[in-house]
Amino acid sequence: MDCSKEVEGKRVHDPFNKSMAMVSKSVWVPCPVIIGAGPSGLATAACLKQRGIPSLILERANCIASLWQLKTYDRLRLHLPKQFCQLPFLPFPDSFPTYPTKKQFMAYLESYKEHFGLEPVFNRTVVSAEFDHRCGVWRVKTSGLKEEETEYVSRFLIVATGENADEVVPKIDGMDDFGGPILHSSSYKSGRLFRGKDVLVVGCGNSGMEVSLDLCNCDARPSLAVRGSVHVLPHEILGRSTFGLSMWLLKWFPVRLVDLFLLFVSRFMLGDTEKLGLHRPKIGPLELKGRSGKTPVLDVGTLAKIRSGHIKVYPGIKRISYHATEFVDGTKENFDAIILATGYKSNVPQWLKDKDLFSEKDGMPREPFPNGWKGESGLYAVGFTKRGLLGASFDAKKIAEDIALQWKVYQ
Ligand SMILES: Cc1cc2nc3c(=O)[nH]c(=O)nc-3n(C[C@H](O)[C@H](O)[C@H](O)COP(=O)(O)OP(=O)(O)OC[C@H]3O[C@@H](n4cnc5c(N)ncnc54)[C@H](O)[C@@H]3O)c2cc1C
Repeated sequence: MDCSKEVEGKRVHDPFNKSMAMVSKSVWVPCPVIIGAGPSGLATAACLKQRGIPSLILERANCIASLWQLKTYDRLRLHLPKQFCQLPFLPFPDSFPTYPTKKQFMAYLESYKEHFGLEPVFNRTVVSAEFDHRCGVWRVKTSGLKEEETEYVSRFLIVATGENADEVVPKIDGMDDFGGPILHSSSYKSGRLFRGKDVLVVGCGNSGMEVSLDLCNCDARPSLAVRGSVHVLPHEILGRSTFGLSMWLLKWFPVRLVDLFLLFVSRFMLGDTEKLGLHRPKIGPLELKGRSGKTPVLDVGTLAKIRSGHIKVYPGIKRISYHATEFVDGTKENFDAIILATGYKSNVPQWLKDKDLFSEKDGMPREPFPNGWKGESGLYAVGFTKRGLLGASFDAKKIAEDIALQWKVYQ
């Protein structure tokens, strides 16, 4: 829902504090402004709408959920069962499988948008957002397709730009000299383009593992460069999703006991991953997730391909040259292409001037879950919980509840 009033090259009346502001193009928004039309932004707008509060969503891309639509590979399915990924007030259709495909997830989000009548404003990249203490409002500057600048002015600002806003591209010695393509996993769509090629996948999170499997299934010859340690867990245990089972067990048992159980079952089902070159962290998978946010890998078949020798595992990379890649153990191999499955980071520090709610270091809320959703002066954060869509839904409901308490005062 677009509740904004656009005024070009004119003075803009601010009904909250009766002051006047002069800008070349300014839009007074008499409702919360949400930055980002991903699942978190849509969920928050829907929760607000349920309480009779309109909102304005600003999105840098030309579509909703741009991470899913534009930056993910074709074979992607939700990693977690659908009941843990649905947004508030609208469950997934019964006809959807337990792990919906990317296409089905997008269809669900489109229907979510339609159901709640949400109309994000596309092609608006937020370049700065600052609280104007004098007027008591947030000033959100955006850049459009032709770099035209627009300022949106609102009492409430909701940051929904995601934990995965920008690609992390590591600097590896000699990478500029490499003779083939080097691409981030966000540009990888399918292994079909790499048929018959030797491809090095850097990084062994869920994306790196799945990209390697996809390459293998498309008759490429993938290798995996694994620098650190990683917990690989079975996708399902006794027909139940490992995630769902863990959540259930955590209701009854302490995290360390549940970790011991997960590691025991993983050893039984997957064997000793150390022997495959995948070293396990010293801390258990759920404790590690809670402490650092590092997600365990849920194996969807990659380990079997590593065991059968179809995917080779190497340690970290020392340097890259035109033909060869040298690893830290001194091994040298030739590759035709390199795919960096090296993850993403938040972009909040680049544009948000407030330094209280978000850390400048990693662009994540300073307070860990469940306390990182609210800042000062009408500032909120949704979807920065390191708990995927479930965490985003939690934030969205809390934010709508909080704004509803203040809303009548501003009417
Ligand atoms: C490959 C992959 C698989 C995943 N699978 C799952 C899963 O199965 N289950 C799960 O719960 N989670 C999963 N996740 C986590 C994922 O982060 C969430 O599912 C979800 O996308 C988070 O939604 P979000 O709205 O917070 O962020 P995003 O989906 O990243 O949306 C943020 C939006 O903000 C926009 N934006 C960013 N910066 C600006 C700016 N400056 N101005 C304007 N707009 C901006 C972006 O364009 C984007 O559209 C997965 C992530 C990846 C990468």
